[in-house]
Formats: sequence, C-alpha cells, structure tokens
Amino acid sequence: MKSDNKNIRHLSLPALQEYFVSIGEKPFRAKQVYEWLWLRHADSFEAMTNLSKELRQKLNEHFVLPAVKVDTVQQSNDGTIKSRFRLHDNHMVEGVLIPTDSRQTACVSSQVGCSLSCKFCATGFMDRKRNLDFDEIYDEVALLNQQALSSYGKKLSNIVFMGMGEPLLNYKNVLQSIERITAPDGLGMSPKRITVSTAGVAKMIRQLGDDKVRFNLAISLHAANDKKRSEIMPINDSNNLKELIAALNYFYKATENEISFEYILFKDFNDSKEDADELIKIYRQVPADLVNIIEYNPIDNARFQKPDSQTAEEFMEYLTKHRVNARLRRSRGKDIDAACGQLANKG
Ligand code: SF4
Repeated sequence: MKSDNKNIRHLSLPALQEYFVSIGEKPFRAKQVYEWLWLRHADSFEAMTNLSKELRQKLNEHFVLPAVKVDTVQQSNDGTIKSRFRLHDNHMVEGVLIPTDSRQTACVSSQVGCSLSCKFCATGFMDRKRNLDFDEIYDEVALLNQQALSSYGKKLSNIVFMGMGEPLLNYKNVLQSIERITAPDGLGMSPKRITVSTAGVAKMIRQLGDDKVRFNLAISLHAANDKKRSEIMPINDSNNLKELIAALNYFYKATENEISFEYILFKDFNDSKEDADELIKIYRQVPADLVNIIEYNPIDNARFQKPDSQTAEEFMEYLTKHRVNARLRRSRGKDIDAACGQLANKG
C-alpha cells in the first residue's frame, strides 16, 4: 500500500464523481468504479476490465485499494469454515461461515484483538491492536459470501458481529460497514438479518437508539448478577447491570429492534437454579426476544469448564418452565477453534 495515497473506498459516490470530473473524465465513470468496488467486489484496479488501461493506471497512481485477503481456511467436520484474513498491514482477523439447513451465517470480526479482556474468551487474552476500517469489515462479509456460494451454493442469509473485538468500541466503522452491506449497490442484505453483539457498552447502546439503527442487538450477558459478571467481564465494573438494563430499554423504545441475550454456561459458576432465577429476573426487565444458552468451549488460558449435558438441559428446562424463550446452542466448529470465544489467530 502506497502510504500517501487515499483509500478509494473511503470516497463517497459524489466525491468519486468530483474526482473524475477533475481529471477530465465523464462523471459516469464514477458509477462504474463504485460498482466495481462494492457490488462486484474488485480487489484491484486491474480487475476493472471495462475501464481503459490508462484510466486504471491513473487510479493506481492516485489511490490505493487495500483489499482484505484470505490467508488460511479450515473446515470443520460439521461444515463450519473458519478463515483467517490478512489485512493490508499484515494484521490478521478471523471470520467464520456457519452453514445450517436453513441459514448461511457469517460471524465477523470488528477489531484486531480486543481491549475488554473477558476471562473466558481467547480474543480477550490478546491486546487490541487496532479497529477494522468499514471497508475491511465489508470485505470479510463479501469473502464469506463468496465462500457460502462456492461451498454450499447459497448466499449468506445472516451476519453476526460476534467475532474478534467489541463492535460498539468501533462504532463508526461498524455502522458504516452495515450501511454498505445493506445498500442495494453493496451486498443488499436486510438489516433484520444482521445482529451486532456487545459485551455491554451502555453509552453506545443508547447511541444506537439515537441513531435509529435497523439491525438487531445481542448482549453477551453470561452472568446475571454484578459480582459474578465483573469477575468474568471487567467491563461490568464501569457498565453494571442496572445501567445495561436501562440502556437496553432506551434502545428498544427508540428502535423496537430485536434484543437477545447470550449466556455461556460455565460449570459450577453460573449454571445453578439460583443463577437461572437471576437470569429470569433480568429477562423480565428487558424486552428481549430470546436467550441463547451456549455450550462453553474451553480455551487454553481460561479456568472454566463446560457443565455436563444434564445440567445444561435442566437449566434450559427451568428457563422454559418460567416462560423464558430460551434456546440451547450447541457449538459449531470446535475442532478448528472456530466456536464462540475461541477466535485468537492460533498459529
Ligand atoms: S468476548 Fe467479545 S468483548 Fe469479550 S474479550 Fe472476547 S471479543 Fe472482546
């Protein structure tokens, strides 16, 4: 990447039109290039074959196109595909394609590493290196979409921002990437098929409400009282459950978008009847549609274990008996470290 040149994907269509006029080209060229960049997902100027060689050369001299590249791909026995993506500065992030009979879900990263240090998460043991730009997040989705088409013959149906990083600490880029992902001249996906997952940055959850976003929100809850939550998620010290509940109600009032909770079960930590009672209490205070109960996937550094399946099922039954819409999510891609909480650029 030539460091002085501007990233062409950071130009809006009107700015691109202005550029073409300034070099004596017809404004419609801007639309052609914009289409190559977003709709056709070209990863180089050379690929823009309906432009003259001279024009491609000119673009090359004035701009850079730092497209994300697939570095390595691993496929799980259950069909889950984990990809490691190389960014222009050689940082790596991971993304996962999770196929089921009815869905092709992409799980994408929003930061290189993470600053929130959740105690059960492999990414939390890495430092946060930098935020991803919106075009880099877009690339992840577009590349996973290509994978879905080539491996399973279907386009992506859903996107979850549950990979590496805290999306709400990279707010502007995440929102801008979703604008491009949902734009008709981008990937044209419905915002209702997109879920942003947060560890609970209350101020930014309110901001989502103020910005009237149209995508769904998932909260990584994982413990339903402040003491336990702070023990495993340091962010709870500055964003406690009371603040989180107030922010979620604010968000819902402003947008009426779906809210769900993610709750990983840890053996002898948050899997008792008392824990379930506390979870039910929180659920009743938030207009949440769903609680996803997630099987824990052990990672090297963490002290937690997964409960036996009977405990997990009893926990589920107890929630259901108390009219909580809960679903037990068996993890996918465990054999390739692609499951929830396992993304850490191993190797
Ligand atoms: S769970 Fe999410 S917020 Fe917590 S450390 Fe991992 S990536 Fe960061």
